[in-house]
Amino acid sequence: MNWILAQCPCSGGGGVSGGIPAWIILTATFGLWLLISLIWYRKGASTMSKVGKIAIVVVLAAAVIGVVVMKKRSTSSPATQPTSQTASGLPRLVDLGSTTCVPCKMMAPILEELEKEYAGRMRVEFIDVNQNPDAAKPFGIQLIPTQVFFDASGKELWRHKGFISKEDILAKWKEFGVTFADAQTAASQPASAPVVERLAPAKADTRAKDAVCYLCDKDIDAKTLVVVKTDKGDVRLCSPHCFFIMYSCLTEDKTGFEQKVSVTDWGTGKAIPAMEATYLYGLDVKTGRPTIKAFGDKDAADKELKASGGSLIAWQIVQEKELENRCGFCDRACYPADSAKVAVGGVNTLGCCSHCALGVAARTGKDIEVHERDRLTGEEIVIKTAGGNVASLQPGTAVGWFGLRQGPDGQYVSAGCFHQGFFASPDNLKTWLEQNPLETGRLITIQRALADKMKLSPQQIQKACKMGQCAPK
Ligand SMILES: [Zn+2]
Ligand SMILES: [Zn+2]
Repeated sequence: MNWILAQCPCSGGGGVSGGIPAWIILTATFGLWLLISLIWYRKGASTMSKVGKIAIVVVLAAAVIGVVVMKKRSTSSPATQPTSQTASGLPRLVDLGSTTCVPCKMMAPILEELEKEYAGRMRVEFIDVNQNPDAAKPFGIQLIPTQVFFDASGKELWRHKGFISKEDILAKWKEFGVTFADAQTAASQPASAPVVERLAPAKADTRAKDAVCYLCDKDIDAKTLVVVKTDKGDVRLCSPHCFFIMYSCLTEDKTGFEQKVSVTDWGTGKAIPAMEATYLYGLDVKTGRPTIKAFGDKDAADKELKASGGSLIAWQIVQEKELENRCGFCDRACYPADSAKVAVGGVNTLGCCSHCALGVAARTGKDIEVHERDRLTGEEIVIKTAGGNVASLQPGTAVGWFGLRQGPDGQYVSAGCFHQGFFASPDNLKTWLEQNPLETGRLITIQRALADKMKLSPQQIQKACKMGQCAPK
C-alpha cells in the first residue's frame, strides 16, 4: 500500500465522519468571548450582570447540544464492520468520496474507465458522502476516499482507504479470485436464442398416482418401491436412491424418521421395515450407478449375492454410501454418474442437475468449470465462468432447458432438478421434447441460467431445493 495515501488530508472532513459542527464551535466561542469580556470589565463586581448570565447560558447550551449531537453520531455510524449487501450478480466496486478532495478527484477518471471497460461484468458505483450521507452511512467509513470491494454474491471482500490506481484495483480482484471475461467473449454470448417453449404437457399423464415416484416423477418399479408414512398420507418413491435424495433435502427434524420407512423385499415383493432389511449393494456396469436390493431374509440375500455379485450391507451403511456425494449447490444426495462435474479452483464438486452446477458459482462466489452432458445424446458440454458470466461455452450452440410447472395458483415455478438439462443444440432439445411429452418449460440460454443463479441472495441459496415437509403432491 502507498504510504502517502494512508494519510489522506480529507480524513474527518466528510459529512459522515465525526467532529463538532462549525455552528456549535462559533456559538461557544462567541459566548466565551462575551463572558471573558464581561468579567474583564467588571473586575471586582460581586454580582454578575444580566448580560454575563446570558453568556453563561449560551455557553452551557452550546456544550449540551454539542455532546448530544456527538453521542448521536457515534451510535449511528458503526465502525468499519464488513457490510453485506444484496447480491448484484456482478462483482461490485463502491467508491465513497467527494467532489472536492484531491485524491477523490483523482479516483474519478479511474472509476469512469472501469465502468466503461467492464460494463456488464463489474458494477462501479460512486457515493458522494456530502451529497448523499444516507447512502454512505451503512459503509461506516472513517475517511475519504474509501473503496469497498464486493463479490458477485454481495459479500464484502476488502476495503481500501485513500487513492488507489486502476492496476491495483484489478490486481486486488485477481487476488480474491475474481476474474473478468474479456469484453469480446462476454459480448459474443447470444442475447437472444430461438424460442422453444411448452407450457402444457403434449399428452395427458394417465398414470395412476400410486405408480409415480413422488420425487422424480418416473414410473415406480414394484421391486424397489420405498414408502414413507406421514400424517398426510403415504409418500411413494421409486427406489432407495430417491428416498435418500428426499431425506437429504428435508429441513425438518429427522429424529426417528427412518422408522416410518419401509422398503420392498426383492424376492417376495412384500413391504419390510427399512432399518431391518439386508441390502445387496452392487454396481450397474452400463450406467455406473449403484444397485440396491432389499431382503427381509438373510438366506435369500445370500442366494442373490452368489448369483449377481455385490456386497451385503445394513441400512446404516446404505445411508452412508447414499449421502456420501452431494450437490455443490443444493446439497442434495446424488450419484456422480448422474451429475454434472464442477471444478472450483482446485476442488471438484457435483451439480445434481445442470442448473445446480451453475449455482456453484453463486454459492462459492468463484469462477467455475462445468462438464455436463447433453440430456439427449450424452455429448459433453463445457462451460467456464468468469465474474458471474459465461466466459466460454463448448459447443457454442449449447442451450439450457428450464423445466417449469404450473403451481396451484396458476403461476409457473421450477419443475425441480429432475426436469432441467443442457443440450448441445436447440435441435437436440426439440428431439428430447418429442420423446418426453410430459416435460414442460422453456429454452433458456446458459448465460441466462447462470445469471438467474448469480442474483440469488445467500438466504435463497440456503433454501434451494429444500423441502419443508414430506407430503404427497
Ligand atoms: Zn424416483
Ligand atoms: Zn442440486
